[in-house]
Amino acid sequence: MIQTDILVIGAGPVGLFTVFEAGLMKLHCHLIDALPQAGGQLIEIYPKKPIYDIPGYPSVLAGELVDNLMEQAAPFKPGFTLGDRAETIEKQEDGHFIVTTQSGLSHKAPVVIIAGGLGSFEPRKPKIDNLSLFENKGVYYMVKQPKDFVGKKIVISGGGDSALDWAIYFAEQDKTQVTLVHRSDSFRAHKDSVEKAFDLQEKGLMQIMTHAEVTHLSGEGKLHQISVEEKNKPTQQLAADCWLPLFGLSPKLGPMANWGLEVEKNALVVDNTLDYQTNIPGIFAVGDVNTYPGKLKLILCGFHEATLAVQTAYKMINPDKRFTLKYTTVQGIQGF
Ligand SMILES: Cc1cc2nc3c(=O)[nH]c(=O)nc-3n(C[C@H](O)[C@H](O)[C@H](O)COP(=O)(O)OP(=O)(O)OC[C@H]3O[C@@H](n4cnc5c(N)ncnc54)[C@H](O)[C@@H]3O)c2cc1C
Repeated sequence: MIQTDILVIGAGPVGLFTVFEAGLMKLHCHLIDALPQAGGQLIEIYPKKPIYDIPGYPSVLAGELVDNLMEQAAPFKPGFTLGDRAETIEKQEDGHFIVTTQSGLSHKAPVVIIAGGLGSFEPRKPKIDNLSLFENKGVYYMVKQPKDFVGKKIVISGGGDSALDWAIYFAEQDKTQVTLVHRSDSFRAHKDSVEKAFDLQEKGLMQIMTHAEVTHLSGEGKLHQISVEEKNKPTQQLAADCWLPLFGLSPKLGPMANWGLEVEKNALVVDNTLDYQTNIPGIFAVGDVNTYPGKLKLILCGFHEATLAVQTAYKMINPDKRFTLKYTTVQGIQGF
């Protein structure tokens, strides 16, 4: 059984920053994440994209921000249970919670802070009979390492920002062939990106097929060819090394939806007037996973929520002590 002061469910940016803020108050954290690495959406979806709205960083790559958050948390020696999903939570007679993961590992703490983001990542998958044969063998729902795709024949499906951003990115790489397939001729992506994509098509750097859908995949052991049906045209066979169906992620709260927490629009309802606590005292929810009037799903908002949540957590864990907030410039960082 792992025991700690604060159990943080979700090691995304907000979970990681919770460790730092809790550490300043001399509270230990242990993080659980279903993914095999820390960083949440920033590592899983867009590690190489620059973020422009982190205070003090005019621009920072998502992956770099996660490295920095890990470094900032390091003095407070957080524990990690990675690649294991939190499945159940039980309140004990002593008021502590026991969270058990999919693999059966138990974690005990007086306070639980849920920083579960969008919940479990589940990409919206296209309906293609033999799709599973090619998953990770040519079919990818996310771009983790762009360099793995450079120099390849890539087919990208979708009409949103992710599809257009990656189509543009790869079209601008040497010796990389890009075909963008979209089922309509109107795009949800940013207008500038759509214009840029058509501009690249005119320059012969990208092919765009509208009113078109991928209908079949073929290849021996890995993807080799894709069938595309375009309106009023015969089915076309495209040679392809990879297909990126980028139809977005369907947010699923997963097991947390069954923990007796108040849920609204697939998010956990919290009290934003005080400390981001849920309807169960001792369980807080911070970052993308929570909802309240005016909620913004932004990293900096999650950082603020985590900072306030640990203030109440401290009082719950140390009912007889008073904590006086000191600036880090004054007290420095006293790790464990
Ligand atoms: C393409 C893209 C671009 C973006 N750009 C920006 C931007 O420029 N600026 C900005 O502020 N925001 C941006 N965002 C939003 C930002 O990524 C989120 O606000 C941020 O990731 C939220 O952090 P989080 O820690 O709350 O959750 P997440 O990053 O979603 O991390 C949550 C973690 O919890 C884990 N988890 C969930 N359920 C369980 C469970 N039951 N057991 C164990 N682990 C669990 C997940 O595996 C995940 O790792 C962008 C998002 C996307 C998709």
